[in-house]
Amino acid sequence: MKNKSIQGGCICGEVKYKLSETPLFTQACHCKDCKILTGSSYIINSSILENTLSIEGELSKSIELKGGSGAPCKVYFCAKCGTYIYTDYESAVGRLNVRTKTLNNSNEYPPQVHIFTKDKDSWLNLKDDVICFEKMYDPKITWPQESLNRYKEYLQNKSEKKN
Ligand SMILES: [Zn+2]
Ligand SMILES: [Zn+2]
Repeated sequence: MKNKSIQGGCICGEVKYKLSETPLFTQACHCKDCKILTGSSYIINSSILENTLSIEGELSKSIELKGGSGAPCKVYFCAKCGTYIYTDYESAVGRLNVRTKTLNNSNEYPPQVHIFTKDKDSWLNLKDDVICFEKMYDPKITWPQESLNRYKEYLQNKSEKKN
């Protein structure tokens, strides 16, 4: 879905951002690292195409961390208030993962799946109709076709530009 301007930002107002397209997919991750990063039971993030994000304001960047799957990632946060804005996972070529709850209209993007539920807090009860994965999932099977098409098209354009 193009041409829908979606906005978000940090808690102090220094960082504001826009997405030029709706996120590809939204997931909640219950892995141990996400718990420590958030200080909470899980992260909610939305996968977006890297070229759909435009940011105003000063960001700081973490050192290289390892995500739940072991893949390296870097976290970007507001330089003034420390709100986490997005994560760049090396394994997710062409994509970024924006913190869903920093979107102004975040209620429109509930988690479509919960992942790494092997590490889910035992006192946290998810509804029966929630889709859970013990660890990671395969986007090719899990994502809606429209999102897969958009991602594929983007990667194709990107590699054509390089050649
Ligand atoms: Zn801020
Ligand atoms: Zn995680």
